[in-house]
Amino acid sequence: MHEYSVASAIVDQVKAIIEEHKATQVKKIIVSASPYDVIIPELLIEAYGIITAELDKFKNSTLEMQISKAEISCLECDYKGEPAEEGDPEFAYNFICPKCESRDTHINMKNLTIETVDLVIPDN
Ligand SMILES: [Zn+2]
Repeated sequence: MHEYSVASAIVDQVKAIIEEHKATQVKKIIVSASPYDVIIPELLIEAYGIITAELDKFKNSTLEMQISKAEISCLECDYKGEPAEEGDPEFAYNFICPKCESRDTHINMKNLTIETVDLVIPDN
């Protein structure tokens, strides 16, 4: 299951963030993915639950997945950014450049990114 390794990578990154901030507890993690990432949020959250079940610092924490906007690169004019209009995902390569209206564009896939980690940090 692809989601399992993705969730495992998220947990590893958050563990490093916990260390760095000397946190005692994770409350909430928000990750974002691009609309064409092949990650199923329900499976990701389920995998996260399995991985963190035995981890004290992750007890009762939640994982949220957001879908970020698609980003294209225009092969005609070098524009990078949001497409003029989002095409049908069935025709993902049919995005239009807002600058020169070319359809000769391709979608930039973005890896799943950790946006926010809500931690409990004891003040001392
Ligand atoms: Zn263009």
